[in-house]
Amino acid sequence: MFEKFTKTVTDAGKTIGEKTKQGSDLAKAKLKISTEERALNDIYCEIGKTFYEKKEGVPCCDEMKELFDKVAEKTSLIESLKSQIRSLKGVVVCENCGADVPLDFDFCGKCGAKVVKPEPVPEETAEAVIDHEQTEEKDAGINIEVAAEDGTEESTEI
Ligand SMILES: [Zn+2]
Repeated sequence: MFEKFTKTVTDAGKTIGEKTKQGSDLAKAKLKISTEERALNDIYCEIGKTFYEKKEGVPCCDEMKELFDKVAEKTSLIESLKSQIRSLKGVVVCENCGADVPLDFDFCGKCGAKVVKPEPVPEETAEAVIDHEQTEEKDAGINIEVAAEDGTEESTEI
Protein backbone atom coordinates (compact mmCIF):
# COMPACT_ATOMS: atom_id res chain seq x y z
CA MET A 1 0.00 0.00 0.00
CA PHE A 2 2.83 2.39 0.89
CA GLU A 3 4.50 1.43 -2.33
CA LYS A 4 1.37 2.32 -4.27
CA PHE A 5 1.12 5.69 -2.50
CA THR A 6 4.72 6.52 -3.37
CA LYS A 7 4.08 5.59 -6.97
CA THR A 8 1.03 7.88 -7.11
CA VAL A 9 3.01 10.80 -5.68
CA THR A 10 5.82 10.17 -8.13
CA ASP A 11 3.34 10.05 -11.02
CA ALA A 12 1.77 13.28 -9.86
CA GLY A 13 5.23 14.87 -9.69
CA LYS A 14 5.98 13.61 -13.16
CA THR A 15 2.75 15.11 -14.51
CA ILE A 16 3.51 18.50 -12.95
CA GLY A 17 7.03 18.31 -14.35
CA GLU A 18 5.69 17.53 -17.80
CA LYS A 19 3.19 20.36 -17.58
CA THR A 20 5.96 22.77 -16.58
CA LYS A 21 8.07 21.56 -19.49
CA GLN A 22 5.06 21.91 -21.78
CA GLY A 23 4.54 25.46 -20.54
CA SER A 24 8.14 26.46 -21.14
CA ASP A 25 8.11 24.84 -24.60
CA LEU A 26 4.98 26.82 -25.34
CA ALA A 27 6.58 30.06 -24.16
CA LYS A 28 9.69 29.30 -26.22
CA ALA A 29 7.61 28.61 -29.33
CA LYS A 30 5.63 31.83 -28.83
CA LEU A 31 8.82 33.83 -28.38
CA LYS A 32 10.24 32.25 -31.50
CA ILE A 33 7.11 33.18 -33.45
CA SER A 34 7.29 36.84 -32.42
CA THR A 35 11.01 36.94 -33.22
CA GLU A 36 10.33 35.48 -36.66
CA GLU A 37 7.38 37.82 -37.22
CA ARG A 38 9.58 40.81 -36.45
CA ALA A 39 12.20 39.53 -38.87
CA LEU A 40 9.48 39.03 -41.50
CA ASN A 41 8.24 42.60 -40.97
CA ASP A 42 11.79 43.89 -41.44
CA ILE A 43 11.96 42.02 -44.75
CA TYR A 44 8.62 43.50 -45.87
CA CYS A 45 9.92 46.93 -44.92
CA GLU A 46 13.10 46.29 -46.91
CA ILE A 47 11.01 45.17 -49.92
CA GLY A 48 9.00 48.40 -49.70
CA LYS A 49 12.10 50.61 -49.46
CA THR A 50 13.83 48.77 -52.29
CA PHE A 51 10.71 49.08 -54.46
CA TYR A 52 10.37 52.81 -53.67
CA GLU A 53 14.01 53.47 -54.45
CA LYS A 54 13.95 51.45 -57.69
CA LYS A 55 10.86 53.39 -58.81
CA GLU A 56 12.64 56.62 -57.76
CA GLY A 57 9.45 57.86 -56.14
CA VAL A 58 7.35 57.38 -59.30
CA PRO A 59 4.37 55.17 -58.42
CA CYS A 60 3.19 52.42 -60.77
CA CYS A 61 -0.51 52.47 -59.82
CA ASP A 62 -3.04 54.46 -57.79
CA GLU A 63 -2.61 52.25 -54.76
CA MET A 64 1.13 52.88 -54.78
CA LYS A 65 0.64 56.57 -55.49
CA GLU A 66 -1.23 56.94 -52.21
CA LEU A 67 1.57 55.20 -50.31
CA PHE A 68 4.30 57.08 -52.19
CA ASP A 69 2.57 60.37 -51.31
CA LYS A 70 2.60 59.39 -47.64
CA VAL A 71 6.32 58.64 -47.87
CA ALA A 72 6.96 62.05 -49.43
CA GLU A 73 4.85 63.76 -46.77
CA LYS A 74 6.67 62.04 -43.89
CA THR A 75 10.07 62.61 -45.48
CA SER A 76 9.48 66.34 -45.83
CA LEU A 77 8.08 66.59 -42.28
CA ILE A 78 11.15 64.81 -40.89
CA GLU A 79 13.42 67.09 -42.96
CA SER A 80 11.73 70.24 -41.64
CA LEU A 81 11.95 68.94 -38.05
CA LYS A 82 15.64 68.17 -38.55
CA SER A 83 16.29 71.63 -39.94
CA GLN A 84 14.41 73.08 -36.99
CA ILE A 85 16.65 71.16 -34.58
CA ARG A 86 19.70 72.45 -36.46
CA SER A 87 18.51 76.03 -36.22
CA LEU A 88 17.80 75.57 -32.48
CA LYS A 89 21.30 74.15 -32.01
CA GLY A 90 22.78 76.92 -34.16
CA VAL A 91 24.39 74.51 -36.62
CA VAL A 92 24.24 73.79 -40.34
CA VAL A 93 24.74 70.42 -41.98
CA CYS A 94 27.90 69.88 -44.02
CA GLU A 95 26.87 69.06 -47.59
CA ASN A 96 29.98 66.95 -48.04
CA CYS A 97 29.97 64.66 -44.98
CA GLY A 98 26.67 65.42 -43.24
CA ALA A 99 28.29 66.58 -40.00
CA ASP A 100 26.79 69.38 -37.89
CA VAL A 101 28.85 72.57 -38.24
CA PRO A 102 28.34 75.65 -36.00
CA LEU A 103 26.81 78.56 -37.94
CA ASP A 104 29.86 80.80 -37.42
CA PHE A 105 32.24 78.23 -38.97
CA ASP A 106 33.16 78.64 -42.64
CA PHE A 107 34.64 75.16 -42.96
CA CYS A 108 33.49 71.76 -41.70
CA GLY A 109 35.44 70.66 -38.62
CA LYS A 110 35.17 67.03 -39.71
CA CYS A 111 36.03 66.97 -43.42
CA GLY A 112 37.25 70.54 -44.03
CA ALA A 113 34.76 71.26 -46.84
CA LYS A 114 33.54 74.83 -47.26
CA VAL A 115 30.21 75.23 -45.52
CA VAL A 116 27.31 76.46 -47.63
CA LYS A 117 25.14 78.68 -45.40
CA PRO A 118 21.47 77.94 -46.04
CA GLU A 119 18.76 80.54 -46.51
CA PRO A 120 17.06 81.28 -43.17
CA VAL A 121 14.10 78.95 -42.56
CA PRO A 122 10.88 80.80 -43.53
CA GLU A 123 8.80 81.79 -40.50
CA GLU A 124 5.79 79.86 -41.86
CA THR A 125 7.64 76.55 -41.87
CA ALA A 126 8.87 77.01 -38.31
CA GLU A 127 5.37 77.94 -37.15
CA ALA A 128 3.80 74.94 -38.85
CA VAL A 129 6.15 72.61 -36.99
CA ILE A 130 5.62 73.94 -33.47
CA ASP A 131 1.93 74.72 -33.06
CA HIS A 132 1.97 76.25 -29.58
CA GLU A 133 4.68 78.73 -30.57
CA GLN A 134 2.55 79.76 -33.51
CA THR A 135 -0.30 80.54 -31.10
CA GLU A 136 1.97 82.54 -28.80
CA GLU A 137 3.34 84.57 -31.68
CA LYS A 138 -0.14 85.27 -33.01
CA ASP A 139 -1.23 86.48 -29.57
CA ALA A 140 1.77 88.78 -29.38
CA GLY A 141 0.94 90.11 -32.85
CA ILE A 142 -2.62 90.93 -31.82
CA ASN A 143 -1.44 92.82 -28.72
CA ILE A 144 0.88 95.00 -30.80
CA GLU A 145 -1.87 95.69 -33.33
CA VAL A 146 -4.26 96.77 -30.58
CA ALA A 147 -1.64 98.98 -28.96
CA ALA A 148 -0.84 100.70 -32.27
CA GLU A 149 -4.45 101.83 -32.97
CA ASP A 150 -3.43 103.98 -35.93
CA GLY A 151 -4.34 101.74 -38.86
CA THR A 152 -0.74 100.64 -39.52
CA GLU A 153 -1.52 97.02 -38.72
CA GLU A 154 0.46 95.70 -41.67
CA SER A 155 3.74 97.22 -40.58
CA THR A 156 3.46 96.11 -36.95
CA GLU A 157 2.15 92.61 -37.58
CA ILE A 158 4.53 89.82 -36.56
ZN1 LIG B 1 32.03 67.82 -43.58
